[in-house]
Amino acid sequence: MRVSETRFIDPVCFMSVNPQETDIYADYKGEHYFFCAEGCKQRFLADPTKYIKPKSWWDRWLEKHIQANEEEFGPEGPECHTKILGPPGSKCS
Ligand SMILES: [Zn+2]
Repeated sequence: MRVSETRFIDPVCFMSVNPQETDIYADYKGEHYFFCAEGCKQRFLADPTKYIKPKSWWDRWLEKHIQANEEEFGPEGPECHTKILGPPGSKCS
């Protein structure tokens, strides 16, 4: 899935966190996790595996199609109303 460079999701409460605005984070198995509050971090560290979910089939399906579209149309994705290979992007409105 395409992930924004500046925002992370707090894995405990699913709030969107801007890493530039917080220094509450934890490293776990090589991944960087950001949290909205110290309490969320503590809950995460108490039992990390509870909050780290394996990717769902839907995420993998989406990734596959996003990748296919990038290979076909380049990193910018297809133009508006172009016939695309996967689910439509959010650019077209
Ligand atoms: Zn939180």
